[in-house]
Amino acid sequence: MNSCQVLSRENLTHLLDSVDTFLFDCDGVIWKGDNLIDGVSETLDFLRSKGKKLVFVTNNSLKSRAQYALKFHFLGISVSPDEIFSSSFAAAMYLKLYNFPPQNKVYVIGGDGILEELRLAGFNAFGGPADANKTVDLKQNIFFEHDKSVGAVVVGIDPNINYYKLQYGTLCIRENPGCLFIATNRDAVGHMTAWQEWPGSISDSIISHSGISAGCMVAAMCGSTQKEPIVVGKPSTFMMDFLLQKFNVSCSKMCMVGDRLDTDILFGQNAGCKTLLVLSGCTTQSALQDPSNNIHPDFYTSKISDMLDLLEA
Ligand code: PLP
Ligand code: CA
Repeated sequence: MNSCQVLSRENLTHLLDSVDTFLFDCDGVIWKGDNLIDGVSETLDFLRSKGKKLVFVTNNSLKSRAQYALKFHFLGISVSPDEIFSSSFAAAMYLKLYNFPPQNKVYVIGGDGILEELRLAGFNAFGGPADANKTVDLKQNIFFEHDKSVGAVVVGIDPNINYYKLQYGTLCIRENPGCLFIATNRDAVGHMTAWQEWPGSISDSIISHSGISAGCMVAAMCGSTQKEPIVVGKPSTFMMDFLLQKFNVSCSKMCMVGDRLDTDILFGQNAGCKTLLVLSGCTTQSALQDPSNNIHPDFYTSKISDMLDLLEA
């Protein structure tokens, strides 16, 4: 049986000696919505002073890496865009690494962050917020046209999802068997605001018997296309493989710190990283210790600044 130890001074000291890179999940670890979690700044400064490499990995696709760098800046933390790995960026890198033809277009059901990353990577992307107010009047008996050169549909969190976008994305996928269906992530809910969780882009926990994921934005597309997406965010191996190559690090010398078992901790465990669960986000101690839970991090603690408190004690 997997053991899961509360973080102590002893195992923290050993962890710091054995890893050179910390991968930090963002929501629930660094911030909650737009609120910085207590002690984060000091903890990151401490780890940097010990020569540790820090990487920030978020499944929230609403922002691009540059927009996340601004968010860190406004929260008083200095982080370079190169240290940030968002699921919006992952979608763009997936297309790049798999040689998606640049003459093909990409339709986006999601936020500005996805569009920005796709365009920065050289792709002709459209949709997203620009289609927020588009409507379809079914009483007019219209024939819905779509661009036949779309070769990929990328779906992420989209607070302005509508029937127009769903029809557009569905036609692209159904009428072109080669069209890629990419989902940025599979979180059921997210902290769109600080004090409340909101529907996310897909829920892993409600997979139907047909194997088609059910949930929210991505699930709507799964339903209408009867296809499963390629998921590029945590816990996908694509994201981890990309990180390992980019930062030239080995899994055994990395520690993944996160608040969600089925994305963050699984992401780290699948790759053979050390894993630390913090209880400052969406997982409670009783959920962690519930017999039905089969994802066991190496260590758990209440928040990342416990590292400082433990070393000072
Ligand atoms: N997706 C959405 C829409 C969110 O709002 C959040 C968190 O706020 C997430 C995903 C998860 O983000 P992270 O991976 O940083 O926890
Ligand atoms: Ca999180």
